[in-house]
Amino acid sequence: MDYQNVIEQVMSTTAPHVGEGAVADYIPGLANVDPKQFGFAIATTHGAVFTAGDVDVPFAIESISKVFALALVLARKDTALWRRVRREPSGTPFNDLIELEVEMGIPRNPYINPGAIVVADQLLQDTGDAVEAMRSLLRAETGNPVLSVDSVIAESELRSGERNRAMAYLMASFGNMRNPVELALDHYFRQCSFSITCAELAKAGLLIARHGLRADGTRLLAREDARHITALMTTCGTYDAAGEFAYEVGLPVKSGVGGGLLAVVPGTCAVAAWGPGLDSKGNSVTGRIALNAFAQATGFSVF
Ligand code: GLU
Repeated sequence: MDYQNVIEQVMSTTAPHVGEGAVADYIPGLANVDPKQFGFAIATTHGAVFTAGDVDVPFAIESISKVFALALVLARKDTALWRRVRREPSGTPFNDLIELEVEMGIPRNPYINPGAIVVADQLLQDTGDAVEAMRSLLRAETGNPVLSVDSVIAESELRSGERNRAMAYLMASFGNMRNPVELALDHYFRQCSFSITCAELAKAGLLIARHGLRADGTRLLAREDARHITALMTTCGTYDAAGEFAYEVGLPVKSGVGGGLLAVVPGTCAVAAWGPGLDSKGNSVTGRIALNAFAQATGFSVF
């Protein structure tokens, strides 16, 4: 595969759309990000990295962290998680409360906010420090020894997190929280606030593309757990647009409201796109166009 040529096609398809969409202003720390930025990176399982655009600008990982949090819990062979969260697409927005009430505090999947709060709560219980567990994983997989939480974003999430707080307390009322709610939320908000670049995100995504093998060659995840993670990315990774992503892109994808998208081609490569402007479902407008162009140019699809 001529990845350099693929990147050029992606960039020329995406260029006319840079700046489209609206930044996530419900988190004040994200509202100030310049929407006229775009980066794209491909990291292959053979160790090559191809990049273009604003690939070295750090952004908030947001919900893409949910993939790594789930990986850390599954790596501990902790099947208790699956009594606390299901594996079905939600079909509703990532911060919906109604479904959670009707379904008695058991979130539909680990990639919508209540599901991710449960995963963070479980990881906190399992490790004593969910943020530290993720920090050390991301530092090792990206090769960036100073990768850190952006404290301004974390503080901003904490202050503006009323809906997340409502979901966590609702789950606690159904007995589905193991730690004090505010403590679990603090870990969840900080996990969402890791500052990462597009190139780093693609490298971190290789953990999944390599079927659970870490950058140093050791195994974090059983091969079947890596498969489970990609299955959930495909069915639940882009909120209530997962059906459209499967139709258009045909790859496991996880998005975040910081404008990042991580796609995985199992056994081959991980792809990161970043454009801060979001569509009405909370997915990056330019990221979606870029992944679509990537899928067209490569013919890669799990279908
Ligand atoms: N920290 C964000 C929130 O909890 C994550 C949402 C997202 O990226 O989808 O609202």
